[in-house]
Amino acid sequence: MNEKARLRYEKNKKRYNELGKKWRENNKEKSKEYNAQYRKENKEYLLLLRKDWVSRNEDHVKEYLKIYNSARKLKMREWREANRERIAASNRAWKTANRDKVRMYDHLKRIRKNNAAGSCSPEQWEARFNYHGRKCRYCHCILDDRTVQIEHMIPLRHGGSNWPSNLVPSCKFCNTSKKDKTYKQFIRYIKENPRLFDQGFYT
Ligand SMILES: [Zn+2]
Repeated sequence: MNEKARLRYEKNKKRYNELGKKWRENNKEKSKEYNAQYRKENKEYLLLLRKDWVSRNEDHVKEYLKIYNSARKLKMREWREANRERIAASNRAWKTANRDKVRMYDHLKRIRKNNAAGSCSPEQWEARFNYHGRKCRYCHCILDDRTVQIEHMIPLRHGGSNWPSNLVPSCKFCNTSKKDKTYKQFIRYIKENPRLFDQGFYT
């Protein structure tokens, strides 16, 4: 804009603004289109403008964000409370459809808690499970993705690792019976209580 045009604009600013407003009101669709086009063509410039404005109005932005976030939090909490059943059902459905993942997540949680060495990917675990014929390592009962538990032959508490070689599939009964016994201790326990493990024990 040259100087003459700028002066003319300054002089008639109010009138121009009125005219612009009127045109936009009468041409809503077109105006929307123009705006979108402008935003698209000046994306970076507008971003800079916004950044500049934010940096000059930090307190205002902070205050706004505080109000906005607390309102959002409240709204989300209200929504969660109103939809508690729906959320629980959806969580349950996801867990049922993703048992492998849930098992791995639980396992990983335990790893973090115990801070033990080693790791086992879902694929490695699947291989371990297949290696043991998809059966309990101790009583040989047949297991599936729903019933299998990840058992540490050397318990984490005894310094065992999370490497695949230390992990075996186990049924819930054997896993809970074993507790923190070492592999050898548990085999002895099975031999001493054969009736508890009537599927035939491992030697
Ligand atoms: Zn078992």
